Amino acid sequence: MESAELLEKLSGAFGVSGFEEEVRELIAKLTRPYVDEMRVDTLGNLIATRAGRSGRVLMLDAHMDEIGLMVSYIEEEGFLRFAPLGGWDVRILPAQALTVRTRSGTLVKGVIGTPPPHILSPKEREQPFKLEELFVDIGVGSRSEAEALGIRIGSPAVIAYPFERLNEQVVMGKAFDDRAGCAVLIKTLERLQGSSLELTLACNFAIGEETGLKGARTAAYQIEPDLALALEGTIGADTPGVPPSRQPTGLGKGPAISVADRTLIVNGRLVRFIEELAEAQGIPYQYKLPPFGGTDAGAIHLSRGGVLAGVISVPCRYIHSPLSLLRLDDFENTVRLVSEFAKEGQRFLGV
Ligand SMILES: [Zn+2]
Repeated sequence: MESAELLEKLSGAFGVSGFEEEVRELIAKLTRPYVDEMRVDTLGNLIATRAGRSGRVLMLDAHMDEIGLMVSYIEEEGFLRFAPLGGWDVRILPAQALTVRTRSGTLVKGVIGTPPPHILSPKEREQPFKLEELFVDIGVGSRSEAEALGIRIGSPAVIAYPFERLNEQVVMGKAFDDRAGCAVLIKTLERLQGSSLELTLACNFAIGEETGLKGARTAAYQIEPDLALALEGTIGADTPGVPPSRQPTGLGKGPAISVADRTLIVNGRLVRFIEELAEAQGIPYQYKLPPFGGTDAGAIHLSRGGVLAGVISVPCRYIHSPLSLLRLDDFENTVRLVSEFAKEGQRFLGV
């Protein structure tokens, strides 16, 4: 499948942290042709395994979940209050279009309502809205109407706009954090189809990263990998007003190799190994500037007696907002680098 088409499918799937069923089903369908075995674990991780010649295991992790919201109260008049699931900037929530998933799985649209500027005082207009002031309007007039649609306290919701291709290279969509990483993992498996690898690949499509690196922790315990890589759609901030020292990554400079973030200091020998793989293949790369963000590798490297784990990411602008942007050449180069790692990882382990 073309990368843009794959990204579109994954971006469009519903998969708020804790509610990953739909996206997991889609990923299982897309991954099945390339793996020997697949299972869903107790917490909902999708673990797909591709057998290698040796018993040594490389864990490749990408999280399926996306940041979203959860209905926390239904007003008598039918307005919904909500709690964030994952790291939102509350300032960007007002006036967004929202999709709530009901108990039966149907989708209900609404908007995060705000009072019109006409009725605000000049002082009020300067203040950002607070979370407790915000509500969702789904166009019903009472709590019972909202409940009749299948909405309950705890119903998950996502801010969703359609995927768009802006030009040959640039695509825009929701949840590239981390559907970009999921797509890299699927494309890597596709690319490796038919080749015999030394390492067994244990691919974990993780639940719950955005609410505490949950799935990666329990999956790593089960997989007991010899080595691990987390694949991410990471913070691109090469935009006006941001000094270069605060741009963790930029678009068009290739895959981002993490050296350290809030959750992990990557083993120096592993960083150099990834660099050398990129250089040998002529793949452009950049470093993700420390110490911004955190990834599943933070949980994986603390599993059992410890696992050496690295992070390779596709730079994406505007993550943790309703729409992010990425470049397809960065995406393809990330797939190339991860494939190379899967083929050569045994050298790092000295096998
Ligand atoms: Zn992420």
